[in-house]
Amino acid sequence: MSDCLFCLIAAGEIESETVYEDADIIAFKDIDPQAPIHLLIVPKQHIATVNQVNGSEEANLVGKLFLVAAQIAREEEFAETGYRLVINCGRDGGQEVNHLHLHLLAGRGMGWPPG
Ligand code: AMP
Ligand code: ZN
Repeated sequence: MSDCLFCLIAAGEIESETVYEDADIIAFKDIDPQAPIHLLIVPKQHIATVNQVNGSEEANLVGKLFLVAAQIAREEEFAETGYRLVINCGRDGGQEVNHLHLHLLAGRGMGWPPG
């Protein structure tokens, strides 16, 4: 989608601090980090929200988001100390960018429940 921020980032038309990329997924630093490490792991295909995860193609991409998160956690050596993965969905979920993305937060202790 030409007017979607994360589609434009995935296409390289808007700059990001990319930390991982393959044919299906891009991961980059969040512009407003909420933890010492705050990455967004994003399918290159435009899927607006979790509500649009309806079939095996989308489910496969969502699974890949988690594979990439776990790989980054191992490589960056915070797999054992831990991290938080978040997907916001819709208005009440606090989703601001309508292109599905997995937040990866690490580098500090985080409380529960979230505010
Ligand atoms: P959400 O509220 O779950 O939709 O999260 C959207 C996230 O995108 C927020 O954490 C923003 O800080 C982040 N964000 C917005 N614009 C950019 C950008 N150009 N590059 C990187 N992260 C961004
Ligand atoms: Zn998009």
